[in-house]
Amino acid sequence: MRSITWRLTVWYAAILVSILAICGLAAFWSMRYVLFSGAAQEAASAVTAVQKMAASQEGNGRGNYNHIDLDDPELINATGNNMLLVQITSSGGRVLNSSWALKNAALAPGYAGPPVLSRFQGEEVYLAGGRLSGGALVQVARPLTREEDFLKDLARVFMLLVLAGLLLALAGGWVITRAALRPVHSLTRTARQISTSDLRRRISLHGGRDELYVLGETFNQMLDRLERGFRSQQEFVAAASHDLRTPLTVIKSYADLLNRWGKNEPAVVDESVQAITRAAGLMERLVNDLLLLAHMDAGPPLKPAPLDLAELAAETVQEARAVAKDVSVEMNPPSPVPVEADEHYLRRAIWVLVDNAIKYNRPGGKVELVAGEEGGQAFLRVSDTGRGIGQGDLAHIFERFYRADQARGQGKGFGLGLALAKSIVEAHGGKITVQSEPGKGSSFTIMLPQQKNIVG
Ligand code: ADP
Repeated sequence: MRSITWRLTVWYAAILVSILAICGLAAFWSMRYVLFSGAAQEAASAVTAVQKMAASQEGNGRGNYNHIDLDDPELINATGNNMLLVQITSSGGRVLNSSWALKNAALAPGYAGPPVLSRFQGEEVYLAGGRLSGGALVQVARPLTREEDFLKDLARVFMLLVLAGLLLALAGGWVITRAALRPVHSLTRTARQISTSDLRRRISLHGGRDELYVLGETFNQMLDRLERGFRSQQEFVAAASHDLRTPLTVIKSYADLLNRWGKNEPAVVDESVQAITRAAGLMERLVNDLLLLAHMDAGPPLKPAPLDLAELAAETVQEARAVAKDVSVEMNPPSPVPVEADEHYLRRAIWVLVDNAIKYNRPGGKVELVAGEEGGQAFLRVSDTGRGIGQGDLAHIFERFYRADQARGQGKGFGLGLALAKSIVEAHGGKITVQSEPGKGSSFTIMLPQQKNIVG
């Protein structure tokens, strides 16, 4: 009984049966009121009629009233099934005259008044009475047998109707609810069939744009996002493994070389050790970048503190000059640019931009850093006189493992630097933008909020 189909069906049936029952009861009681009022009216009219007959004949001086025909068909409604029972009693209670149908029985003694419900010989009747002259009393009983039989039949019909309504509501409710919930079942089935190895399945959407359609659509959109996330994760792992394989192969080959021939040859040992160290350094850098990216994805443990962006940039310039052989690195005279950021992470992001500006520059080229404030934001711009970035590449350079110079096989990096810088800057509530003109140079800008507006 816990399924929605059952619950809705039961509710539907209960409401319908309640409506039917309320309507039935209202119809029954209205009918009863109309019929009973008519019967009471008949009894009251008969009393008045007898009073009139008695008054018109009083002059005859016959005080025992037995000259009045109490079986007059017009008076007692002899054509109907409910013959009226009429009786006249003296002031002492003696029966002076009565309808034939009363035989020897006597009506309730002494009642003179408007019609009231009473019982006579086990039957329900309307009893009415009125005074005649000389203390005599006329009483009329109107049996209600016919009305009661009719009302009993009516009640039975209503009960049958309610029962039929209940069965119909249960069957109809079940069919309608099942049909209405069919998309939910198909949603459940599809969700069950989806596994990480097969994220391509989708709910088939048809019919009008109702709530269930929107639910299905939302579910499909969620699957789209999941599939995209899953694919990029797979690509990420594949790219990382691919990049790790090259230095590993180098290390393995030189280890083999050493093992076979090189142990006693100082030149081979020298070359091997250098190559192995280079490869290990490469791997170390890649693994560090991967680790940092994983941290960024998991919600970086940022420890923001007030610091000077210009000072941080100036320190990076000093470090960069040590590695930049034929490229000059300059910075505008730094005036303090206060921001609130995690020093370690921000230093890493700045280094990515400066390192790229050196790596992708031309011999004798220039790298220029400008730090300042603009429109309530702190910014650091790193411009170079390098070869620039083509329009096609601009949209992708912030993606993981994307290398614009891949085709040229320069192998200067893993394509993770800008992805890292972007997620670091964004985690600080900032933005990173790029402008580039192929052949002339590129300019990357980090923008950070000056206020305490740190995400992470
Ligand atoms: P990488 O480790 O390859 O440098 P990045 O994510 O830092 O990876 O950069 C992605 C790509 O963007 C690089 O391969 C390079 O082609 C291009 N790129 C980045 N910075 C510059 C720049 N200053 N000048 C020219 N090209 C750049």
